Amino acid sequence: MTSHNQQLFDESQKIIPGGVNSPVRAFRSVGGTPLFFKRGKGAYVWDADDKRYIDYVNSWGPMIVGHCHPEVVKAVQDAAAEGLGFGAPTAAELEIAGLLCKILPSLEMVRLVSSGTEATMTAIRLARGFTGRSRIIKFEGCYHGHSDGLLVKAGSGALTFGQPSSSGVPAEIAALTTVLDYNDAAGLEKAFAEFGNEIAAVIVEPVAGNMNLILPKREFLDAMRNLCTKHGAVLILDEVMSGFRVGLQGAHGHYGIKPDLITLGKVMGGGLPAAAFGGRRDIMQCLAPLGAVYQAGTLSGNPVAVAAGLATLKLVQEPGFYQRLTQVARQMTEGLTAAARKHGIPFSAQSIGSMFGLYFSKEVPTSYAEVMSCDKEAFNRFFHAMLEEGVYLAPSAFEAGFVSAAHTDADIAATVAAADKIFASW
Ligand SMILES: *Cc1c(COP(=O)(O)O)cnc(C)c1O
Repeated sequence: MTSHNQQLFDESQKIIPGGVNSPVRAFRSVGGTPLFFKRGKGAYVWDADDKRYIDYVNSWGPMIVGHCHPEVVKAVQDAAAEGLGFGAPTAAELEIAGLLCKILPSLEMVRLVSSGTEATMTAIRLARGFTGRSRIIKFEGCYHGHSDGLLVKAGSGALTFGQPSSSGVPAEIAALTTVLDYNDAAGLEKAFAEFGNEIAAVIVEPVAGNMNLILPKREFLDAMRNLCTKHGAVLILDEVMSGFRVGLQGAHGHYGIKPDLITLGKVMGGGLPAAAFGGRRDIMQCLAPLGAVYQAGTLSGNPVAVAAGLATLKLVQEPGFYQRLTQVARQMTEGLTAAARKHGIPFSAQSIGSMFGLYFSKEVPTSYAEVMSCDKEAFNRFFHAMLEEGVYLAPSAFEAGFVSAAHTDADIAATVAAADKIFASW
């Protein structure tokens, strides 16, 4: 019998390019048929054949309290019953904006949008409007959504397909993006020395999660802050993934680095389309209708999405929330590393907060080049073997993984046992 996943994928490919609405979902990197999911509850998801998986993708990050948390579902239902959208301000928007500014003191003002792509795209425009400069700096392997100027040597799906720069981006636009090496403070210093007075912004994932998980070096973070300040460039910390994942105050809170602007998404929408950008008041006041930098959105601040975000942000503020997640992620990486070592497999892993990285390499990578030299074929084999065992990892060697508050010690133990079984017959 053909699986329902296969049937659905065959049909989808006829009318949806590649059968998917976002490229990494197509399993091109790992091969095989993507799973079509029909249900999620807590730490688990069920595919079209009713097979259950322990989920470490978490919808690519948002489901930090687990799937279908009763309080989130209730908040969404209550909001929906009052109106799906008005295209006018609501009190709930003020509430979530206030909450974001309270949790993240670097936000003096904030604006809501519907996706991380919108947040980063607008943050760049705002930085250009504020500085009157055009050039931006990004780092190879970092992904900041799919706007033209940011799809230059990008991570995530772009990286998965070995096409980190997109066709359809005019060379004239790509030329305004200077791409440097992540964690290379000297390279950044050199770029600022050469054309510091042309740089509108440096945009970075302060913890990189779109080329697998790469942690920032202290000197790299400090160099970014100091050079941006010295040369009048805007430092944009893209926390769409790391925000409310690394800890309550994101990566910038964890490392104590002060941004000029930050971008948020994923967790702050609780699974629905809500995202935000914000930061220094003097920069944010350049936005329309106050200032001359235009940005708008029919669905921005949508009441149902905001309700999901508010309910989720309420849960993550509970005492001990991140301590427990940090411990669960560590249990997972330590368990997997021990299993691999037992069977003599070159493997390493690390975590920060609720994010983790798994690498088929002896040492944990600290740069884009090191990530690229990990054994991708080994990952693909591992991915499919784990899938067979009922463990759903991100379908690419270049994505970070996530645990949620719903993952129990037993889930982690089952995951480690599955890996142990696989590694035993490796
Ligand atoms: C996911 C992500 C984005 C893009 O967000 P979308 O909601 O997919 O548009 C931007 N930056 C980072 C760091 C991300 O992880």
